[in-house]
Amino acid sequence: MAALDYLISRALPFVPRSVVRVFSRRYIAGDSLEDAVRVVRLLNRDGYLATLDVLGESVRRRALAETAVSDYMRALRAIGEERIDSNISVKLTQLGLKLDAEFCLANVRALARAAAERGTFVRIDMEDSTCTTATLDLYRTLRGEGFDNVGVVLQACLRRTLADARALPGRSNVRICKGIYIEPRAIAFGDRRVINKNYVRILEELLDRGCYVGIATHDEELLWEAMRLVDLKRPGADGYEFQMLLGVDEELRGLVRKEGHRLRVYVPYGSHWYAYSLRRLKENPRIAGYVLMNLLGRRPAPS
Ligand SMILES: Cc1cc2nc3c(=O)[nH]c(=O)nc-3n(C[C@H](O)[C@H](O)[C@H](O)COP(=O)(O)OP(=O)(O)OC[C@H]3O[C@@H](n4cnc5c(N)ncnc54)[C@H](O)[C@@H]3O)c2cc1C
Repeated sequence: MAALDYLISRALPFVPRSVVRVFSRRYIAGDSLEDAVRVVRLLNRDGYLATLDVLGESVRRRALAETAVSDYMRALRAIGEERIDSNISVKLTQLGLKLDAEFCLANVRALARAAAERGTFVRIDMEDSTCTTATLDLYRTLRGEGFDNVGVVLQACLRRTLADARALPGRSNVRICKGIYIEPRAIAFGDRRVINKNYVRILEELLDRGCYVGIATHDEELLWEAMRLVDLKRPGADGYEFQMLLGVDEELRGLVRKEGHRLRVYVPYGSHWYAYSLRRLKENPRIAGYVLMNLLGRRPAPS
């Protein structure tokens, strides 16, 4: 299975973008903010919260980071004006982290201020391990400046994460996820069973420390463990939420919400859809298989 996953991850970049686009449509709200607002409104109607993600990452020019800031400012205005229940999720490399950390900090600070004015929240997504320390530092700086409406993400696959959880400022707002980036063994656990155990251990630590936790997973085993911990630790309805990605296991999403838990859906949109789509397809061997067959000249229809 690991060998097949490896093969898929090596072959997907050779699939034409037009094919990737067709198969990844379910994971993306659309090209425009208006598309995203429409999707969020439907999610809100069905009892879900949302977080808006303007697709894009690893910008190489300051102007592109500034464009991303303007796009997020528009999203924040829409959240207020359209009265949708959503916050925003940002990637620091899209906001200039690899160009100039101070410039990136100023960009996130401006977004946090605009979000606070609208009573909403900025989640800083976690990217590959070359960004972990800088991301946690930037989060700590903003918390030190009094921005309580900013939260961060921890990845259970990283060997350092339990220590990072213990070093977070008090009352942190943390999304815990497995982690999507391929990392060397010295940095990350490779075995799914170990990652799951570490996930549960970190979640318990975060709940014990009084953090607000966004429990991001579609893994039934982890959901079961998380519900067990929520039952045991009783963080209260305003102490945690579940989080899932748009287009992934909507049936499971409904079951979690039916049990009375808060559930937030991650809603990506925008024209820079390619890198995000490849990551989602690699996580879905069935669809990735269709995409590869297409590459080989056979064209089964996606279901
Ligand atoms: C709200 C949210 C935010 C996230 N933010 C980050 C982040 O900031 N940084 C980061 O590194 N990672 C992030 N992730 C991704 C995360 O790290 C995992 O890679 C991803 O969630 C898959 O892990 P899983 O816990 O769902 O378990 P898995 O074992 O990967 O999946 C469990 C089951 O979910 C289903 N599933 C999972 N993915 C797909 C898919 N693409 N298509 C169809 N079915 C699928 C399958 O049935 C699978 O068996 C985020 C995930 C979520 C839900």
